[in-house]
Amino acid sequence: MIYLDNAATTKPCDAAIQGVLKGLEVFGNPSSLHRCGVDAELLVTDARHAVAESLGCADEEIFFTSGATESSNTAVFGAYKSQGKRKHRVVTTTIEHPATARPIDELERLGCEVVRISPDDSGNISAESLINAVNEDTFLVSAMLVNNETGAILPISKAFSAIHRRFPKVITHCDCVQGYMKLPVKVKTLSADLISLSAHKIHGPKGIGGLYVRKGLHIPALMLGGGQEKNMRSGTESVPLICGFGAAVRALSGDIEARLERVRGLERHLAEKCAENGGVTLNYAGEKSPYVNSISVNGLKSEVLLHYLEKKDIYVSSGSACSKGKKSGVLAEFRIPVQNMDTTLRISFSAESTESDIDALFAGIELAQEELAHI
Ligand code: PLP
Repeated sequence: MIYLDNAATTKPCDAAIQGVLKGLEVFGNPSSLHRCGVDAELLVTDARHAVAESLGCADEEIFFTSGATESSNTAVFGAYKSQGKRKHRVVTTTIEHPATARPIDELERLGCEVVRISPDDSGNISAESLINAVNEDTFLVSAMLVNNETGAILPISKAFSAIHRRFPKVITHCDCVQGYMKLPVKVKTLSADLISLSAHKIHGPKGIGGLYVRKGLHIPALMLGGGQEKNMRSGTESVPLICGFGAAVRALSGDIEARLERVRGLERHLAEKCAENGGVTLNYAGEKSPYVNSISVNGLKSEVLLHYLEKKDIYVSSGSACSKGKKSGVLAEFRIPVQNMDTTLRISFSAESTESDIDALFAGIELAQEELAHI
């Protein structure tokens, strides 16, 4: 099996599986006062420490959620609830994942003014374009670190630090899902007040994620109830998933730069294969993460090719997994030519991907170019 759809989800690593099992064995409710509860609470505390350490922040600044969708919803609606009565402007980009874009659309329906920054003609979003969109009436700036369809890296650190200098009260939120554990993501350098994370993109389990909330910033909770997660996220903690998340983080920590270098090699190999083939183009060549790559195969519709490759046990995505069947507005934002849009495949690597995976992908593409071209 050749799995090149790691931006959709990753294979859980052994440590994460063991972590989940441990969290199932230690079955107490972390809120219980007796020993069973305390044992479970210790596991949650340990996982929280692992996530906090990876981001270079305090343990108290990490809150577990059901995934990045919940984290981003909490960030956007929380910022609105805390500041939206006094201020009205939200600054974001046109290339956000729906987990951020849809809650911001909702703020627009509630009366906020939303400024959405588009990439320029070369597909880049400059720090200046984000900074210049912020005014005295702005309460939230939300922009992703790595785009999930092209791998484009946004200048978050530069933009957010300048915004904080000029407008210290503006809340900055960053969806770091495709950058976390792949690029060296640290709270201090990002200058974000709120950061969304997801475990299943880093070889952890699905249904668990995190929200970093800068100490001193108060945002109201989305989920109300028993007051778990210091009132930020009520509901009994999913100890197994939290343990799996923490274990995945620990398994990846420490080697981020070395893995990044290796995956850069894979990105170069992919570019060489595209050039050799002649009928395959790379769709985005700006400042990007090597983990996510968008290509177009001339004359072969994405879905047809995706299913052709699937029969050969090669798994890729057409655009992004959550835009199933729908045309991706994000690719158009990146100025990807219309003729390439219907023929786009997303090739996304994990640290375990190899050059021979890419060779097998291209062998499959070449067969499709021969066979399907005659139909
Ligand atoms: N943000 C980005 C950039 C993503 O790629 C994804 C998942 O595809 C999400 C948010 C949502 O993450 P989750 O599945 O944890 O809700």
